[in-house]
Amino acid sequence: MTGLAMLSNALTRLDEAARHLTVDQEVLEKLRFPKETLSSRLTIRMDDGSRRSFVAWRCRYDDTRGPTKGGIRFHPASTVDEVATLAFWMTFKCAVMNLPYGGGKGAVQVDPRGLSRTELERLSRAYVQAFASMIGPDRDIPAPDVYTNSMIMGWMADEYSSMVHQPSPAVITGKPIPLGGSLGRDDATARGGYYLLKHLETELGLASSAKRVVVQGFGNAGVHIANLLHADGYKIVGISDSRGAIHAADGLDPHAVLEAKNAQGSVVAFAEQGRAVSLSPDELLSIDCDVLVPAALEDQIHSGNADLIRAKVLLELANGPVTKEADAILAAKGIVVLPDILANAGGVTVSYFEWVQNRQGYYWTVEEVHQRLRSIMEAEGRHVWNIQQEKKVTMRTAAYVHALRRLSDAIAAHGTQD
Ligand code: GLU
Repeated sequence: MTGLAMLSNALTRLDEAARHLTVDQEVLEKLRFPKETLSSRLTIRMDDGSRRSFVAWRCRYDDTRGPTKGGIRFHPASTVDEVATLAFWMTFKCAVMNLPYGGGKGAVQVDPRGLSRTELERLSRAYVQAFASMIGPDRDIPAPDVYTNSMIMGWMADEYSSMVHQPSPAVITGKPIPLGGSLGRDDATARGGYYLLKHLETELGLASSAKRVVVQGFGNAGVHIANLLHADGYKIVGISDSRGAIHAADGLDPHAVLEAKNAQGSVVAFAEQGRAVSLSPDELLSIDCDVLVPAALEDQIHSGNADLIRAKVLLELANGPVTKEADAILAAKGIVVLPDILANAGGVTVSYFEWVQNRQGYYWTVEEVHQRLRSIMEAEGRHVWNIQQEKKVTMRTAAYVHALRRLSDAIAAHGTQD
């Protein structure tokens, strides 16, 4: 056991996949532990001259298939257990997509909404100073995650470049375009999920349905998926954020909802303007719809609320939004879950494209990015769908089987030395 409860829980998905594959026990044992995790205290000067310290981590879970890859989140509830679990998921996500990467993740335990822009910049630079020995374009490549963005990635890339005395854009992805960011990275997580959903529309029974969508979480992934589906004729009937939820049976215009949120801090403002009905989080989940998109944090759908869900399909844009107990409830109800390690892999896939472009010094058009993303999402999505059909398992287990096969082949080829 690792002593990390959340990770132990996540490992049950690996055990389930292993039941459907001939895989060496040594491989499974190796994948039960993160390769290395570093914890560091970040102390920064605040604008008022005082000093504050924050705990931060970076975990490189497994690098058998390549340099470790994964985001950095700034969140007051982050823990080392969460970081290791997210790094475990990244390991499987990169393997599902056949990206030449292992999995990593980082976090700072902080509420960034309480920091000024200059304090946030000092914190971002302090993170890179603390973890400089761990990251690198061929070692570990961070990216944005919850409450971090391209501006923060830009500061971090700049800090790393000054430390190594040369521009080093490939050390981090999700950068601003002028600093070597890729076109199409901003909406890549949602777009990957959208391509997957479209590709499997007929198999999922969505082609001729009413196409009503509920989006849980209205950050980067939630906003973009709402826009993409809305533009494609889907009806967005519910949206939530951390402060509340709204519903409109005739459909919401996600652009107008975002405007209200930007002006007043929450989607709830839209209901206050009389343009939607306000709901509790549980009421949001019980809306009769075709697609539910969890796009917030982990463990949002659990044994206490999974039974309320009336969607046909879940498109997991968040990492780990459904607990394993809820998985069983959803499967029994015949609801298909397009799992996080496949459904939200568009983000890391376009991060990979960004890294490739940085290393080549040759940049692609947004059309090229979209076309390559679409073809990878469709190919790997089809592969997972076929495994699910062949082995009569859930899409989640099929995605783990697909990833585990690749990881196990790489570990076997690698020999005994770590
Ligand atoms: N944070 C994103 C994820 O969880 C993207 C990671 C990356 O681009 O490296 O997949």
